[in-house]
Amino acid sequence: MSDTIFTRIIKGEIPCHKVYEDDRVFAFLDISPLAPGHTLVIPKEPAPTLGELSDESAAAVGRVLPRLCRAVAQATGVKDCNILQNNGAPAHQVVMHVHFHIIPKPDAAQGLGIQWPAGKLDPDSGSMMAQRITAAL
Ligand code: 5GP
Repeated sequence: MSDTIFTRIIKGEIPCHKVYEDDRVFAFLDISPLAPGHTLVIPKEPAPTLGELSDESAAAVGRVLPRLCRAVAQATGVKDCNILQNNGAPAHQVVMHVHFHIIPKPDAAQGLGIQWPAGKLDPDSGSMMAQRITAAL
């Protein structure tokens, strides 16, 4: 399988504005930011989606994500942000290498806009769904 653009960024084949790197994790500025400071945090492991990522890489990303959020907030002066992680093309994933967006929310016009078509959880179907998910773990 050919490298994704993010693997090529990790390898230094494509330039980026790097903000962080360790053994398992790489972070850099998004080329098309929704707001200043929009940062992508990626595992070096080239898993396409979150469900395919190893526990070790997931733990490494999770360990550094709060620190990166604090750094983005301090650098931009914007304390509010969204963490976005898309899986699959219908869920708006374009680059098939796991990535977490840190998107500062400076005001209503900038940052992530969300549609949230909330339903109402039915107690019976909720109970069944919770059991099915638990059984699948
Ligand atoms: P997705 O929609 O897959 O969650 O987001 C992919 C993100 O990667 C987009 O926000 C896009 O702007 C960013 N991106 C795509 N190609 C490049 C690139 O070559 N360099 C950088 N820095 N970001 C990229």
